[in-house]
Amino acid sequence: MEIHSINPVNGKIIQRYNAHTDKQVDKKIMQTHTAWLNWRNSPHNERSRLLLNMSKTLLVKKDELARLMALEMGKPLAQGVAEVEKCATVCDYYAANAAKHLKDQLIETEASKSFISFQPLGVMFAIMPWNFPLWQVFRFLAPALAAGNCGVLKHASNVPGCALAIEDIVKAAGFPQHVFQTLLVGSNKVDRIIENKFIQAVTITGSTAAGSKVAQKAGSLIKKTVLELGGSDAYIILEDSDLEHAAEICVNSRLINSGQSCIAAKRFIVVKSVEKEFTRLFLEKMQAKTMGDPLGNGVDIGPQARIDLRDDLHKQVKLAVKQGAKCILGGEITKGNNAYYPATILTKVKEDNVAFEEELFGPVAAIITAKNENDAIRLANKSIFGLGAAIFTSDKKHGELLAATRIEAGSCFVNALVKSDPRLPFGGIKQSGYGRELGIFGIHEFVNIKTVYVA
Ligand code: NAP
Repeated sequence: MEIHSINPVNGKIIQRYNAHTDKQVDKKIMQTHTAWLNWRNSPHNERSRLLLNMSKTLLVKKDELARLMALEMGKPLAQGVAEVEKCATVCDYYAANAAKHLKDQLIETEASKSFISFQPLGVMFAIMPWNFPLWQVFRFLAPALAAGNCGVLKHASNVPGCALAIEDIVKAAGFPQHVFQTLLVGSNKVDRIIENKFIQAVTITGSTAAGSKVAQKAGSLIKKTVLELGGSDAYIILEDSDLEHAAEICVNSRLINSGQSCIAAKRFIVVKSVEKEFTRLFLEKMQAKTMGDPLGNGVDIGPQARIDLRDDLHKQVKLAVKQGAKCILGGEITKGNNAYYPATILTKVKEDNVAFEEELFGPVAAIITAKNENDAIRLANKSIFGLGAAIFTSDKKHGELLAATRIEAGSCFVNALVKSDPRLPFGGIKQSGYGRELGIFGIHEFVNIKTVYVA
């Protein structure tokens, strides 16, 4: 079988790769397991030294890596550079903090000594998406290696070049051979890999449908999973918010990665009294964004990652309009063999509209009217997803209370764009998944939290 990358700007094949055979996959997993038998005993200062090397290696290669992402999945260059820099920060964070997070914790009992010890599990299997081809991998990989685990990666089939580049970065940083390897395989091989006796745990970032399949398989074999899945983040605009600031943040969030981010704002729930003015500002700011070749300068929106994904998005937009939404910007496909989709705004989106109920994974904003604050919160929570959310208000204390106690999501930001940060846990509830990445909770997901009791 062949895996190839296609440039979404022109539909042309960039590079062809032979997929790994079952035999090659088995050998690689065995090699990574063997590497783990030593890596599990490596001291923290050695792991930190190598993580810092990896951070430096990433920064040296940032332009090259940004170009690769632009070619394989259409990310504008400046955003690609920023993504690589963020990958370096997660390496730095775990280099500085892993030993502290994994330090034995003494617990007073009647024993002469009792404590919690955090022990590595073995080889983790990571299944990753194309939208942040580097960041998604590094946010699993840095804590995994820091905790003494090893990993194999099945990346999305449209970014094989990025997948292999990551393996090269780990090698160039000086990590022992095989602690991390890329498996070039299609999703039809995932079950077989989960079955491999050396795979101890599975982490997937992707759609809810894929997460469900992976969790079923891993669950049947009692292998732990973390699921980072889809989202339809609500941004609530309250009556007392600074509308200019809110509109700016909302547009920037909706257009992160050309609209293809799990934590991009997708539903804009605006209290009726400010809806007209918010919509005017939002439209003005969306219109000001430039769509173009991701390798060009000053480009805000590149093509979608694949033509089929763009077509699926367009179907959702057409259905939303058929169901009563009004398209006030965009909504039309550009001619030619490319995956471009313009910044699009749908207004008058009701609760039973596809743009409310489903995830729209592209630069399409759904503006929804709420009667008042309580209605806005009800609408925000009326979703199968629960990844991120944001609230805009000039009353910070009130915003904080709503964020902490009323919003059903893995994170809620006040007057700011939802983003991941190596220091803070990241993940969802409901159909957005379970488990956490990043911060102290992320590194504790894939360790044996072992009780040691000495009478
Ligand atoms: P996807 O189609 O689910 O693919 C994600 C990964 O899963 C790919 O490696 C894919 O392999 C694999 N996969 C697909 N179907 C599978 C199956 N039935 N069994 C096993 N593996 C399977 O998702 P995507 O289109 O790449 O990414 C977009 C989705 O990811 C969105 O829903 C987005 O919200 C979500 N996402 C979530 C987060 C988060 O942190 N919560 C972050 C980013 C993206 P192939 O490429 O070979 O099909």
